[in-house]
Amino acid sequence: MSTDQKKMQKQNTANLEEVNSLANDSLNLKLSINKRLESSLKLISILSCFSYKTKLDLSPNKVSKLVYAFEELIASKPLLVDYQEILALGKHLLNEISANKMSSYTTKKNIDISFFSLSGCKQDFQISEEDLLYPRIVQIESKAICNAKCSFCDYDDLIRKGTIMSTEMIDKILNELTEIPSERTFVVEPYKISEPFLEERLGTICKKVIDMHQNSRVSINSNANFIREKTLEEIISLTRQDNFYIKSGTFVVPRLSISFSLNESDQKDYERLMKLSFKKTISNLDKIHSLVEKKELPSIIKITRVSTNATKDLKFKSLVKSRYPLFRFGLFKLNDWIGTNEFSSESIRSDGFPYLSYQKLGCRRWFDLDIMANGKVAICCMDSGVRDYNIGNAFSENILDIYRRKVRLYLPNDLKRGSAKPPCNGCTYFQGPMKTLKSSKISYVLQRKNT
Ligand code: SF4
Ligand code: SF4
Repeated sequence: MSTDQKKMQKQNTANLEEVNSLANDSLNLKLSINKRLESSLKLISILSCFSYKTKLDLSPNKVSKLVYAFEELIASKPLLVDYQEILALGKHLLNEISANKMSSYTTKKNIDISFFSLSGCKQDFQISEEDLLYPRIVQIESKAICNAKCSFCDYDDLIRKGTIMSTEMIDKILNELTEIPSERTFVVEPYKISEPFLEERLGTICKKVIDMHQNSRVSINSNANFIREKTLEEIISLTRQDNFYIKSGTFVVPRLSISFSLNESDQKDYERLMKLSFKKTISNLDKIHSLVEKKELPSIIKITRVSTNATKDLKFKSLVKSRYPLFRFGLFKLNDWIGTNEFSSESIRSDGFPYLSYQKLGCRRWFDLDIMANGKVAICCMDSGVRDYNIGNAFSENILDIYRRKVRLYLPNDLKRGSAKPPCNGCTYFQGPMKTLKSSKISYVLQRKNT
């Protein structure tokens, strides 16, 4: 066993001992409600930190007793709403561990956000004057066409399905983006509710974005089921251009990256979720991986999964590590299409508890400019356009004017989404880093709340 493995084993044993002792305190009716609450919150914090990475054997009997104990605490009147939410998520976490010996990344993220809200921590979220004038991310849906039918996506319900943006309008949008000051970095995503590789003009659009502005970048998100040979060649030739790399602080970064959303490692699960051929997708990914291996394509590829289940998260990670070692791997929290898609809304609220902590968060997507194939501008990446928020039309107005109006309408003064207009005030979207509140800090947070 290597030193690292020994260290990890020692840490796991220490964690398990702490879990057992905290679980005993949570179940000990001789202790006061406050003491049991403190132990339960610490238990949830510890479990959430390592149960999405490591398998954990908790006896079903203990799990059901703890679930019952959490329910009792939730029902006890003096508890604050914040505690109730964490305890409800804790129940969800325990049920996941009981079913899979692990919890999902999505549950971990929801717990992190609840603890963040409980502790009143300051979010690492800053905006500049420029953010009010120019977007950070621009989505251009040149074609509202996708070959998949993912259950968590609104694609099937789009009225604009099949709409194609004219090249003239794409050029109008790109021209207006050149008004962004040259030192500002921004990302163009040449898709929205669409599969970018179904767009014959994808290579040309990417080239225009990179050549038009010295700090623009392109980010492509594809399902990898249809990869046009010509487009791939165009992307490869783009990566050989002199202006393909850019300095960012002390790093040199590529100006184009591709995320392939594979989502499942099992053929049946994949085909049920995406309604696409797994074999075809895997064969495309194999081909692209071999291009990276032969150094014909730089290492700009990531494979992603929306986390719904811990065992599947783990299997997925091991598939990527073993089959695609040159690709990066990313898990996403399950997000909701701002309440328009029943599948994702229900999965998010499957424990029947509204996640009020999100209302204390800001949102980086307030600085999106998302243009749909019919020219209409959406609030953000999570607004599929199924509902019309009447923000503006990029075909008939300057896109930066629309962006500035949107920011004025949706950005709340205190930068907390709870004070924003709907749908932001009820939104549970979150991607990015969020530190877990360590169990050792929980006693301090509770003391402060009680005084
Ligand atoms: S999630 Fe992406 S791949 Fe799936 S249907 Fe929607 S647009 Fe297509
Ligand atoms: S809070 Fe939600 S709806 Fe509002 S901009 Fe952010 S992701 Fe979009």
